[in-house]
Formats: sequence, structure tokens, C-alpha cells
Amino acid sequence: MKIAILSRNSQLYSTSRLVQAAKERGHQARVVDPMRCYMNITSHRPSVHYKGEDLTDIDAVIPRIGASITFYGTAVVRQFEMMGVFCLNESVAITRSRDKLRSLQLLARKGIGLPVSGFAHSTQYTADLIDLVGGAPLVVKLLEGTQGIGVVLAETRQAAESVIEAFRGLDANILVQEFIAEAKGTDLRCIVIGGKVVGSMKRMAKEGEFRSNLHRGGSAAVAKITPEERSTAVRAAKIMGLNAAGVDLLRSNHGPVVMEVNSSPGLEGIEGATGKDVAGEIIDYIVANAQHGRTGTKGKG
Ligand code: ADP
Ligand code: MG
Repeated sequence: MKIAILSRNSQLYSTSRLVQAAKERGHQARVVDPMRCYMNITSHRPSVHYKGEDLTDIDAVIPRIGASITFYGTAVVRQFEMMGVFCLNESVAITRSRDKLRSLQLLARKGIGLPVSGFAHSTQYTADLIDLVGGAPLVVKLLEGTQGIGVVLAETRQAAESVIEAFRGLDANILVQEFIAEAKGTDLRCIVIGGKVVGSMKRMAKEGEFRSNLHRGGSAAVAKITPEERSTAVRAAKIMGLNAAGVDLLRSNHGPVVMEVNSSPGLEGIEGATGKDVAGEIIDYIVANAQHGRTGTKGKG
């Protein structure tokens, strides 16, 4: 099987592990930089070109689209879908997962446990918005932030008002959320592939920090999750339409709550913490499921 990994950098841990896992299983894998792909979108025979080559014989695509290139990256994935190429995660699902507000709305609709969250455009009724989510302390988040950047804990009502006004003054879209203090700076990352949790870890924030992101100095260890946490993670991935996802949960007093669902979860932390071959699980899933034309949307959506 010929697998293309859409990634900007072949040296990244996740990218190189996917290449390695594919090769170990006797498949061909190549890294394709989505930002260097170009295409004729009006052609009757859709195709993707890369460095002067027509990528016609790809059987499956693994999108590893960074947040900063979501727009162009998902357009490339969509073009592969139009060609009938199986994509591990489809373009619409990736786009959905990148927008925290849209994700929370979809998850809420299906009854998934979430931190109480609010959203507003105007700052005119900020005080009311703060009351709506239960008052301070609360977490203010940039809607399209990642790696913990743009996530602020406002301990008092005054701090919350100032942060909200400052973000809105910069025209940033934000989400206001109940602070799950009982999680104590720890969250759970569950890797879901094809409807199964194949590995889970807990991430602990460093001293004096509430954000557990590894990029913010957090540490990771293998986690044993409860059946409720497992089913919440599986359902969240399914609702988002992601075949492969990293679902982040907090252990709250009102059960597991989903914080976000990631469409290109990093493999280094989870493989290091669990000792599992997560890259291999991804390749095995693709081999079992990739059939030409099996893409759900064929790039529509
Ligand atoms: P990002 O996309 O930047 O990773 P997250 O929403 O995942 O943003 O938040 C980053 C981290 O902040 C989380 O991993 C978690 O440790 C902490 N955090 C986020 N929201 C809350 C919350 N409502 N209550 C407690 N901790 C939170
Ligand atoms: Mg996160």
C-alpha cells in the first residue's frame, strides 16, 4: 500500500514514526508537505501535484495538519477525498475539531459531559456572561488557541472581566469556562483509533501551573481510565467524525468532561508514556479500512 503522510517536517517524531511503522508492515510511506502541493480544482479528473509530480497512485493519506496551516492543509485533504483516496481523518472533521466553540456545541448536542462554557461577541454583558458560567475562578480561552497558549485562569471576577475585555479588544474570539479545580492541573489524553481507545496517559502540569500541556512543561504518565472515561472518549471522537483522535478529558466532580478533541495528536508523549506502538495502530487501521472511494464525503461537506 502507498501511504502519504501530509506533514511539513519529516523529522518530527510523529511523522517519522508513522513512516517507520508503515515500512515495518511492508508498505510504502512518503512525507508530502501540504504547503507545497498544488492542484487544478476544476479538472474533471481531480489530482494533487507535488514538486512537479502528479500524485496519482496514493492509496491512503494521513493528514498531520498543524493549526497554523488548517486552511490550506484541509483544502489539500479535500482534494484527495475528491480523488476517492482514503484519508485517515476527513477534511470536514479536521476543520470542525479546530474550532473549540463548534466542537463544544456538537458534543453538547449529543449529551457529552463538558465544563460549563459560555461565549459572547460583545463585551457589553460580560458581567452577566461570567454569572452564566458560575462566576470566578474561571478559564478564558482563545477559540483557536493550541498548546496551552491563549488559555488563562482568572481567579477573581475582576481579573476575568479584564482578560475578557483585553482579548475582545484585540478582536479575538474567546470562550469562558468553569474552572475544574478538582482536576488539580491533571488531564487525561485518550488516543482513539477506529472507535477504540488504544492508549491513554495523564498529563500533569508543572508546579504552579494549571495547564497540563507538555508544551507548557507538563509531564506524562500512563493512565488507567474508567469505563465511563473510555466510552466518553470513544463517543467524542465519533461525534467529531474523527477516525483517529486525541480526546482530552478532565476528571470533574460531575464525571469526565471533554476539553477538546485533537485531530493530529502528537505520538511522542503517548508512546513514551504507554510504551505502545500507536503509530502501528494507525497504520493497521488504515490497512484494514482504506478502500478507494470509501471516503465518506468525497470532499463535499
Ligand atoms: P489548548 O488547545 O491550547 O491545549 P486546552 O483547552 O486544551 O487548550 O487547555 C489547555 C490546558 O489547560 C488543559 O490541558 C488543562 O490542563 C487546562 N484547562 C483548560 N480548561 C480547563 C478548565 N476548564 N478547568 C481546568 N483546567 C483547564
Ligand atoms: Mg489542549
